[in-house]
Amino acid sequence: MPRTLDDSMKGAKKSISGHCLCGAVRYELSGPLGELHACHCAQCRRQSGQQVISTHVKRSQFSLTEERGLKWYRSSQGAKRGFCAECGSSLFWDDGGDEVYISAGSLNQPTGLTLARHIFVDEKADYYEIDDDLPKFANYDRPLGSD
Ligand SMILES: [Zn+2]
Ligand SMILES: [Zn+2]
Repeated sequence: MPRTLDDSMKGAKKSISGHCLCGAVRYELSGPLGELHACHCAQCRRQSGQQVISTHVKRSQFSLTEERGLKWYRSSQGAKRGFCAECGSSLFWDDGGDEVYISAGSLNQPTGLTLARHIFVDEKADYYEIDDDLPKFANYDRPLGSD
């Protein structure tokens, strides 16, 4: 049975906005929001200082309402990371595909979202443990229910 909008919106608000620490980058997302992933990869760690928990939306559901501070860093051949050049907040991950990834920490509360999985666990730093029972992936695994 095809998923309905209502199914995929379970627990998530229809639209949500967010911004960087200083407000020089602001955005709005219209649902449905993808499940939250905690990424433990070395790139996320170095850029944000720790694991990055992010949601994702279709590109058409992502809109910038303030981009004065927005800068993009080409972090790999296929992807770039959006951050605020004024306050340093790490905000977006974009590989040019159908979806844009947004750091959950920049979302306005409440998000109605819950953490669903851990990815790139093989690159996790050695100074913390993952002590929940959520699914863990050695690298990236295409999220279920993201389309
Ligand atoms: Zn900022
Ligand atoms: Zn990562």
